[in-house]
Amino acid sequence: MSLDMLTPYLVEIARPIIGAKTIQVILFREVLDYTVLRTEETREVNTVVTPLSISIGKDVRRAAFLGSKQKAVESRELERMLRTAGVEAGLVELQCHLKDNLCLKCPRCALFGGTNVESGSEKIANIKHRIEYGTAFSLLPFEEVRVALTFNAINDKTQKTGQALGTRYAVRPSTVFPSVVTLKSVTHKELILVIKTLLSARNYGAETRIGGDMRNSIVGIVAGWEEMITPLELTLELYDRREDLSGDTVAGILDRYQAYAGNPNKLKVFTPEQVDLMVEQVAEVSLDRRFLDEAYADVAQYRLEQKG
Ligand SMILES: [Zn+2]
Repeated sequence: MSLDMLTPYLVEIARPIIGAKTIQVILFREVLDYTVLRTEETREVNTVVTPLSISIGKDVRRAAFLGSKQKAVESRELERMLRTAGVEAGLVELQCHLKDNLCLKCPRCALFGGTNVESGSEKIANIKHRIEYGTAFSLLPFEEVRVALTFNAINDKTQKTGQALGTRYAVRPSTVFPSVVTLKSVTHKELILVIKTLLSARNYGAETRIGGDMRNSIVGIVAGWEEMITPLELTLELYDRREDLSGDTVAGILDRYQAYAGNPNKLKVFTPEQVDLMVEQVAEVSLDRRFLDEAYADVAQYRLEQKG
């Protein structure tokens, strides 16, 4: 099984003290519908100034897809998946809700971390996250991916469009955000749950009535004892190769970053064929009773160890 090639970078059982084993999943998040990526306060699309590429230092603005936004959607997606799989497998329905009612007993809580907010007499330990997100940047400069959405007022009496209320920017369909999800000291089952989550998560819109649909394609996997690459480095490297956005291109970039690693002999860049096979195998795994029982038992073991 191709997935077995990742075994040296996985842990048998998740533990409160985190080791160095790191897996980075490289993905292209492609926008499928007009998407407003903004923070609630400013109502502006998040943009940031970066160099154009690794080879061209000229400053440009890029749309920024905050790591916290990616994480929020994917954490909920995993929760939904666990709840539905649990009901289907005949388990007690999962009672775990973001962000004030985390159960701290399910694989989502074990992976994404959680804080107990109940102020009972017994102090319950928090869980530290082992999945990390970085802000992703649009491959192309903001000027090339933005569209202006104009809002008009309709006059009730005449049903004619009145004066324009204003203009708001969104990111247009087919915009690509190269992105990295980093897993630290995760188990085989957690890896499966994360990949399934990345494949099935879709709606990232800040406002549900304005698009926000995206598709994640997993285009690379690198494993080692450290983080190999950040989303910004990935984007700047890919800009120079934007005519060939493929798994081969990503693997070539990751190979070169091996030179900067602290433990290069521990590092493995998987080929696009291996990555495709791994993703295929994960998709085929069924979240049945046995899988869930074992995954929840792992979390129970983690909590037991935490109690000491
Ligand atoms: Zn939970």
